[in-house]
Amino acid sequence: MELTIGRESGVDNPRLAVEQNGKTFYWGKPGSVPRSVSRKHCLVKIDDDSKVLIEDITPNNFMYINGMDCKKKGGITLSDTIELGPDRYRLDLEGIVKALSSQQTYSIATLKGVYDSYQKEKYDIQVYQGKLNALSTLPGILSMTSIGIAVFIENARLVMIIVAAVFALVFALIRYRNASKIPSRTKKLDEEFRDKYICPNPACGHFLGVTPYKELLKNRTCPYCKSKFTE
Ligand SMILES: [Zn+2]
Repeated sequence: MELTIGRESGVDNPRLAVEQNGKTFYWGKPGSVPRSVSRKHCLVKIDDDSKVLIEDITPNNFMYINGMDCKKKGGITLSDTIELGPDRYRLDLEGIVKALSSQQTYSIATLKGVYDSYQKEKYDIQVYQGKLNALSTLPGILSMTSIGIAVFIENARLVMIIVAAVFALVFALIRYRNASKIPSRTKKLDEEFRDKYICPNPACGHFLGVTPYKELLKNRTCPYCKSKFTE
């Protein structure tokens, strides 16, 4: 296994970028990696016996193995302490390798809330839309009633016609405002769901689709990285 490790580029709050076979995945929380870690900081080679060779890529980098400043070191293990840059960012090589080899079991308990609240919000939007549709027949009825009254009661004619016009206008405005509000709310909801309903393996992080939480628990594996899922 060969990895190029460094800081995520082009963002304000970088994570660790780990490149393997031309593919990059991101490790840790946004902002967890200090600027003193280079974009391409070190090269890590791990052989079948889990022995690690680590090499600092650029001349101005700093790297510490078990507290000692060095540029290149072989024969260390995954659990040795590796720190990058003068701020001594601690590299969790063991966690990264586990995540990459997908032998890990991950708890997906937090995804239950994500899925449930997505479904609830979706339902709420549908109900709201339905209520709005029901209401949309109201201005017509009220306008017609007002005009009807206007026809029979001559004194109230002008007032009733104005009332009818106002009703029609108000409801048209409400519908106009909601015309863009509902789609943007739905879009935002879908985007949030896409960001959160993901495989908990940091090396995968694939969106799990609209597969219900119960299904995920039943299948017990990520369809993309084959990690094991548990509650
Ligand atoms: Zn996965």
